[in-house]
Amino acid sequence: MSLRLKFNLVLAAVLLVAVAGAGLYVHRFLQSAAIAQVQHNSAIMMHAALAIRDYTTELVKPHLDVTLLEKFLPQTVPAFAATETLRRLQTRFPGYEYKEAVLNPSNLRDRATEWEARLIEDFRSGRADLQTEVTGEIGEGMYRSMYVARPITIKQPQCMACHSTPEAAPASMRKVYGDHNGFGWKMNETVGIQVVKVPMYYPLEAARETFYAVMGVMLASFALLFLVLNLSLSALVIEPMARLNRKLEDLATRDFLTDLVNRRRFFERLEAEMAETRVKKGQLSVVMFDIDFFKRINDTFGHDSGDVVLKKTALRVRELLRSSDCAARFGGEEFIILLKETPVDAAMAMAEAVRARISGTPFDRVGHVSASFGVAAWDHQEDSHALIKRADAALYVAKSSGRNCVVQAQDAEPTPT
Ligand code: GH3
Ligand code: MG
Ligand code: MG
Repeated sequence: MSLRLKFNLVLAAVLLVAVAGAGLYVHRFLQSAAIAQVQHNSAIMMHAALAIRDYTTELVKPHLDVTLLEKFLPQTVPAFAATETLRRLQTRFPGYEYKEAVLNPSNLRDRATEWEARLIEDFRSGRADLQTEVTGEIGEGMYRSMYVARPITIKQPQCMACHSTPEAAPASMRKVYGDHNGFGWKMNETVGIQVVKVPMYYPLEAARETFYAVMGVMLASFALLFLVLNLSLSALVIEPMARLNRKLEDLATRDFLTDLVNRRRFFERLEAEMAETRVKKGQLSVVMFDIDFFKRINDTFGHDSGDVVLKKTALRVRELLRSSDCAARFGGEEFIILLKETPVDAAMAMAEAVRARISGTPFDRVGHVSASFGVAAWDHQEDSHALIKRADAALYVAKSSGRNCVVQAQDAEPTPT
């Protein structure tokens, strides 16, 4: 696994955990903030209704009581005043509702729905505490709302004036609502509920949009971070490391004077090529050569001039090689060439060409230089050392035959079976 992949996997894991953690936290925070807002709004609605009721009871009804004998004014009924006032909010704030739902109301508009009747029954039967509000959710999707319900319990004896029996009720009221509804109430009886509904859809939708926006910004920031860290990683770590590795590889495998590969890398290449040649059932040869009387060049012209001859020799060899061949400095003034897919005749010709190239043109300052060559073709049996040993032996023969010549190696001795 590459360094970049490892780094990116760790980074991605960390960012994923961070996004998931932050996302969870932001989502919860926004949801609870939206619900708190809805609760706050419903509390305001409920307290507005209570305030209107109190206002009507304390400041409106006493002034109009005298007229009630002749004409019933529903405006004096606290429930009517609260319902009517808050109903006017609905044009400006759709979905915000206030109702005084009663099981047996005078005004049939206030009759409890099935759902409201169930809530009233909860209070009447003691399943819900009369001292506390009941809150919950109702509806789905766009109509999802929070409701708050408070019991309407008859505490004031004045209430009974209108709700005990039709006979006791003001005639003006009976004229409006008739004799059949809103009677038979008892003191301390819970006759209905005040219920406020506040829509949840819009605050929750706003929370959802905020959540997506926050997550979008967070993901974009993390993507940018990812990109910047990757670019930094490339610029500050991977590229310098790759350069360093190439340099180390060069130092370990190249001869710094001639820029040819060294003996170690040559053996690696040779063994790899031998394996390939074995599979392809092809041919492979090596050419080994050694500069003649090199010691004399050093002694006559100096070590530096000797170095120049080594460099120039390497250049002349390179000029003749195919890209698939490989020339190496084997040691001192000794070189070796690996010729891929080359039978012995072609290798002999190549060695002859290199010999002619070296000895054909005099070297600066030093003048005429020659080299002796040994050529061996791989027999598909011997190992790399045995092959080179045969080429070296042929080179030795070339030296003893007067130098500046090419000698083909003897066939390898058959391996005992
Ligand atoms: P022969 O024809 O038998 O090969 O004789 P020779 O003089 O070439 O061989 P010998 O082995 O006697 O001498 C090789 C010389 O090469 C000895 C050594 O100082 C020199 N030599 C080895 N490496 C280098 C090098 O990197 N630079 C220089 N200038 N000389 C080197
Ligand atoms: Mg020599
Ligand atoms: Mg030598």
